[in-house]
Amino acid sequence: MLSQKARYAIRAIQHLADRHGEGAVPLSEIAARQKIPAKFLTTILSELGRAGVVGSQRGRDGGYWLAVAPSKLTYGDLVRMMRGSLALVPCASRNAHERCTNCIAEDECRLRALMLMVRDQTAELLDSIRLSDPVEPLPSFDEMVPEQSHGA
Ligand code: SF4
Repeated sequence: MLSQKARYAIRAIQHLADRHGEGAVPLSEIAARQKIPAKFLTTILSELGRAGVVGSQRGRDGGYWLAVAPSKLTYGDLVRMMRGSLALVPCASRNAHERCTNCIAEDECRLRALMLMVRDQTAELLDSIRLSDPVEPLPSFDEMVPEQSHGA
């Protein structure tokens, strides 16, 4: 799963992408609208600033803005920047590979082969969606009638 940090970073960047071209967006606005603890958000935005994705300005009218056009940034870029793993099992992660303690040989494990396919297709999908692409929210699972839920 994506780390909490990666999830916060993506929501913050989506917020800045929506406000792209409108100048500096106050940290307090992003924190309140995206429900991100302000201190953690400062750390995340500093990290994204060092990566060249976010610009910032101190002072009374200060804040943050997207330093690259939303059309030049993909969700895959963001996940990699925040070092979030896309793999469902650690041994299928290409950036944060780890074996479990009682691992059978990796080159004999069919579960790992399957999870690598899932990981690669996820990466391909996230690399194809840009921050400028429309992504509509979906109803919460809580709002779905039981027939619509597939139990996962
Ligand atoms: S047993 Fe399979 S799934 Fe588990 S760590 Fe080893 S290769 Fe990966």
